[in-house]
Amino acid sequence: MRVFSALFALFITVLVLPASALAQGLIRDAEIEAVTRDWSNPIFEAAGLRAQDVNIHIINDGSMNAFVTRGQNMFLHTGIITNAETPNELIGVIAHETGHMAGGHLARSDDAIKKASRPMILTMGLGILAAVAGAPDAAAVIISGAQKNGAVTFFAYTRVLEAATDQAAENFMEATGQSGKGLLNFFQRFRYNEVFSGATRYPYFLSHPLSSARINALQTRVDSSPYRDVEDSPEDLHKLKMIQAKIVGFLKPPQTTFNLYPETDTSQPARYARAIANYQIASTKKALEQIGELLAEEPENPYFNELYGQVLFESGKADQAVQYHQRAVELRPDSPLLRLNLAQALIATDRADNIETAVGHLKRLLLQEPGNSFGWYELSVSYERQDKLALAKLATAEQAYAMGDYLRALSFAQRATIELPQSTPEWRRANDITLVIAADPRIRRQIAQSRQRRPRH
Ligand SMILES: [Zn+2]
Repeated sequence: MRVFSALFALFITVLVLPASALAQGLIRDAEIEAVTRDWSNPIFEAAGLRAQDVNIHIINDGSMNAFVTRGQNMFLHTGIITNAETPNELIGVIAHETGHMAGGHLARSDDAIKKASRPMILTMGLGILAAVAGAPDAAAVIISGAQKNGAVTFFAYTRVLEAATDQAAENFMEATGQSGKGLLNFFQRFRYNEVFSGATRYPYFLSHPLSSARINALQTRVDSSPYRDVEDSPEDLHKLKMIQAKIVGFLKPPQTTFNLYPETDTSQPARYARAIANYQIASTKKALEQIGELLAEEPENPYFNELYGQVLFESGKADQAVQYHQRAVELRPDSPLLRLNLAQALIATDRADNIETAVGHLKRLLLQEPGNSFGWYELSVSYERQDKLALAKLATAEQAYAMGDYLRALSFAQRATIELPQSTPEWRRANDITLVIAADPRIRRQIAQSRQRRPRH
């Protein structure tokens, strides 16, 4: 074991990156997640991993980075998505990261990464996230605790390990009938940039060092692949442009979006980006008009329906929003985030029948994503409106637990245990939360610390 550790240390050296690597927090978006998931799953399977066991997290950060941590977590910065010229490039990077994951070259998760890999944030659509970013309470949960730490420790792989991982990535690309050219192009393009602009903009190449030998070895391997000249489908190219437009529209200042996607560009991604930017500057009428046009072109697009519903919802028209979110869920019933948006709109109508329907949707999505703190929050709101206060307390306990706020989780779980009828499944769950928290020494320490910090009155 000691020998192994010593060898492993040769491969991997410590690298400290600015906190910006995680400071922007995780984001959730049904469309971006669906697209990256569809492209990643075949690669995961080719690597012998169970695709459903690998978590993909998107970090709102324009710098270019991708990394993996223990627990089969893959992190993609929005910057790596927007910098990819083709899906093949992005899939190549994902294949390389999968190589690290399958090879067990995982960064030892320090606290910051552990925090980021847990659902610490309110889980919500990208647009809703952007809309609440100005509110301090919401921002506090959106931004991960990492920001306070100043620096995040990552591990830099050695060039030798990088070359081996490229070969693994190429194996996965071949096994799925895809070309390795994208990964090669990506390296060549950024190698040149990196030399002249300083590497800080490209944290990816700090942890994944490039070298001529590495690039040459990949080149040889890519050239010998029978799939070398396989191109991305027009549909996949379009999907990449759409998620890039969405990232820019939601996360860049609107003026930047209008500059990057000028009126003269009448492509669908450009109109998507401008519609989102108009929504960002509260030009609701214009945004609805533009999304309405997209929707007329593709009524079956779940994400156009979602966005139209979202703009209506944000402008206080929950009643009208419901049908669009409903349609989005019908088109993608497997998407927990689309269901969450629907539930949120239903609750906002404040009609008893709608709230009952919302509870059904929330329960279903929470089975899929038990750590979805925003889902638990919405469920607690629904139960409160229904005057089911003990259940509301249990849902609040679940929400706090999912966010890692154990003191609050314990307090609400204890109150729920007292109020819920004994031996029901809900009572047992409240009891379980109390027991789990009481049994974990790390959690006990956290509770003790936060009790000390709290001012006494
Ligand atoms: Zn690497």
